[in-house]
Amino acid sequence: MAKVKMTTPLVEMDGDEMTRILWGMIKDELIIPFVDLKTEYYDLGLEYRNATNDQVTIDAANAIKKYGVGVKCATITPNAARMKEYDLKEMWKSPNGTIRAILDGTVFRAPIIVDPIKPYVRNWKKPITIARHAYGDIYRDVEMKVEGKGKCELVFTSEDGKEKRELIHNFDGAGVVLGMHNLDKSIESFARSCFNFALDTKQDLWFATKDTISKKYDHTFKDIFQEIFDKEYKNKFYEVGIEYFYTLIDDAVARVVKSEGGMIWACKNYDGDVMSDMVATAFGSLAMMTSVLVSPEGNYEYEAAHGTVQRHYYKHLKGEETSTNSMATIFAWSGALRKRGELDGNKELMDFADKLEKASIQTIEEGIMTKDLASLASMENVKAVNSEEFIKSIRERL
Ligand code: NAP
Ligand code: MG
Repeated sequence: MAKVKMTTPLVEMDGDEMTRILWGMIKDELIIPFVDLKTEYYDLGLEYRNATNDQVTIDAANAIKKYGVGVKCATITPNAARMKEYDLKEMWKSPNGTIRAILDGTVFRAPIIVDPIKPYVRNWKKPITIARHAYGDIYRDVEMKVEGKGKCELVFTSEDGKEKRELIHNFDGAGVVLGMHNLDKSIESFARSCFNFALDTKQDLWFATKDTISKKYDHTFKDIFQEIFDKEYKNKFYEVGIEYFYTLIDDAVARVVKSEGGMIWACKNYDGDVMSDMVATAFGSLAMMTSVLVSPEGNYEYEAAHGTVQRHYYKHLKGEETSTNSMATIFAWSGALRKRGELDGNKELMDFADKLEKASIQTIEEGIMTKDLASLASMENVKAVNSEEFIKSIRERL
C-alpha cells in the first residue's frame, strides 16, 4: 500500500526499560508499515542521558519548540538505586521536569475509555481530563516547627526596602507554620494552556479553588482565570460552543462525581496531584491514562502517564513472557501524529491517527487485552495476550 506522507518531522524521544521495548514494537508494527515516518530522534534512555550529561534532554525540549510536536517514551527518573544500576555520573533530574521547565507547559491527563472496563463511578461515560498546575504552592513551600511561645509574621521586603507585614499567629505553645507562593506569570500561562486545550479538544473547562476561605491567594487564581477568559477567550468559546465554569473546589468534586465526564478540570497543584490519582483509579487503570504537555505558545508533547514498568522489564530480561499494556504509548503516538497532521494541514495523517486509535479500542472491545485489563474486564471470553500479541492483534485490525 502507499504510505501516508509526512511533510514536517515530529520529535521522537525514546526511553527506558519495558516501555522502550514496546516503543520499538509499536513503531515496527503499527506506524512504519503505514506511515512514511519522519522524526527527529532523541535517545532519552538513561544510558545516553548519562553519556551526554543530560544535554540530550535539553536538546529534545528545544526541538519540540522548533517543530511544535513531540512524542515521548517513559523514562527512568534516577534515584539512589539507579545511580548504582547504571553507574551514573550524577543523579540526573527527571526528564519530564526538565522538558516542562523549558516549555513552561501544563500537563493534561485523560483516560482511554473502552467498553469492557467500567469506571467505578457508574455515570462516567466520557473521559475526565485533569490539568494540573505544575508550579509552586506546597511543592515549593518553606516550613517551620514552632517550639513554643512567640509571634510569627509574614514579611515582604520590596526592592526599595519597604516592609509589609501580616501577623500569622501569636503562638502560646508549640505548633507549625508554612509559607508558600505562586507567580501571576505562572498562573497566567497555566490559564492560557487550559483555555487553548479546551478550544483544541472542544470540551468545557472547569476550574475550582477555595477562594471563599483564601481571599487573596486562591482568589488571585480565580481572578486571573476570569480576566484572561473575558479578554481573550470568551468569544472563541462561544463560537466553538463550549463553556468556562468556575466553582468552589468542594462543589467541583461533588459535581464531577455526579457528571457524565467529558470536561477538562483545571486544578491547582495539590488538587491536581490528588485528583489525578483519584480519577485514574476510578477509570480503571494507570496503563490506560494518556498525558500531553501543552505550552502556552502551542507546543505539544505526548506520552503515556505511566512509568517504564520496571517489574515487567526484568521478567522480559529473564526471557519470561510479559503482558504489558501498550495502549497509552500507542495513544501518545496517535496524539502526536494527529497534531502533526493538524498543524501541517495533512488530513491523511489525521485520519491515520483516528484509525490507529479505533483499531486499538476495537481490539480490546473484541476481548483481546493484556492481563492488567483482563482482570478488570466485565465481559465473557476475554483473551489475555502477551505484549507482542496485543500489538499484532491491533495491526490485523488496522
Ligand atoms: P510504573 O512504571 O508506572 O509501574 C508501576 C506498576 O503499574 C507496574 O509494576 C504495573 O503493575 C503497573 N503498570 C504500569 N504501567 C503498566 C502498563 N503499561 N501495563 C501493565 N501494567 C502497568 O511505575 P514505577 O514502577 O513506580 O516506575 C518505574 C520507573 O518509571 C521509575 O524509574 C520511574 O522513575 C519511572 N517513571 C517515569 C514516568 C515518565 O516518564 N513519565 C512516570 C512515572 C514513573 P504490576 O507490576 O502489578 O503488573
Ligand atoms: Mg499524586
